[in-house]
Amino acid sequence: MSLRVAILSVRNRNRSISIGALVIKDELERNGIAVGICDYQTAFAYSHVLVSMTATDDIYDIYHQCSRYGWGKRTFTAFVGGFGCQNPIALAPFVDYAFFGRLDGIASDYITNPEAYPQHSFVISNPHKVSLRQVDKLYPFSVTYGANNTRWTEKFIGCPYRCKFCHYSHNRKYVGCGTYINNGLSTGSPELMLKDIASLTHKVGRLTAGLDGYSERLRFAFGKRITWDMVEEAMDTLASFKGSTYLKLYNINNFPTETEADEQEFNSFWTDYVNCTHKADGVVKVDVFNTAFRPSLNTPMERMPVSLFPEARKTIPEIASGKGFAIGYTHLTKGWKEHLKDVVSIRYTNVEHIQRIATFDDLQFDWNDYLREYTSDEPLRFKWIQ
Ligand code: SF4
Repeated sequence: MSLRVAILSVRNRNRSISIGALVIKDELERNGIAVGICDYQTAFAYSHVLVSMTATDDIYDIYHQCSRYGWGKRTFTAFVGGFGCQNPIALAPFVDYAFFGRLDGIASDYITNPEAYPQHSFVISNPHKVSLRQVDKLYPFSVTYGANNTRWTEKFIGCPYRCKFCHYSHNRKYVGCGTYINNGLSTGSPELMLKDIASLTHKVGRLTAGLDGYSERLRFAFGKRITWDMVEEAMDTLASFKGSTYLKLYNINNFPTETEADEQEFNSFWTDYVNCTHKADGVVKVDVFNTAFRPSLNTPMERMPVSLFPEARKTIPEIASGKGFAIGYTHLTKGWKEHLKDVVSIRYTNVEHIQRIATFDDLQFDWNDYLREYTSDEPLRFKWIQ
């Protein structure tokens, strides 16, 4: 059979594909395999089709479209992978092989003979298999992406900090020099570890950091070892630079065991800081971006309870302001329905329920089952990582 390979361009991407998919395309082409880009219909013109999932809730649209375009009776071999491929079991009717990791380094061998890679394989529905594959080398070539042909070169894989809910740390080997925070993908607004802000020697107009927890108790419990003293030091540093500084501060709310006292600790810190400090030489605006807790698979917190209440969407425009500081929340783009979809897409393997969310918009059904509490001694669904 002649090899006709394509990468699926999923919705809203205008025939563009993710950086991970670009890497695979680049590697295949370097090995002499031409790679096209297809949609759900034109996939049938190819022998091998690769699907890259970047977000966990990609599964709903992919499930819906695969169903609509008859991928259950496909004439090609389908592979799915990527960070969003956290629940490939639900896609079993539409894909032949799934991998929760990276394919670069073996891409051409794997797609031509996937059965030769049984290690880490996990039978999901005979003959479908899902594999976890780690890589221990950075991808050695640059790829270009986007309308402006931006060049991307891999500088690191994974993250060494081991936050207990984080895929980037627990499901990837740490390779290279950098982290998702201090050497991230964003170019205009550098991402720093919060502890590193205090070491800044020059002003950065816009920057991003993660706090991830309303209180010290929550942050230390879940592996984010950031004290209020460190936050204070960071804020003092930013305030010492003249002019305006904008800090986008990611936070996680609805952590297991979180109480109103934790949230109160958070608000009190900012209020006290703004009221008591007199060090501002410039103007510092802090926008807190709250995301509701949503652990990844294969992390120590995989089975921790997830709550959709109170509403994930917080609309508090301002926590405190004065003396050169303004601390506020920016509205989240995700409400509880989107959060529910994220939670179900990661945790729930019942195909009927995935299908139901994929094909019905109103979500008018009993979803209590999705919110059940998991016990800590419950076996992990996937035990790929030892
Ligand atoms: S949450 Fe951030 S700092 Fe923590 S392990 Fe993940 S990428 Fe690293």
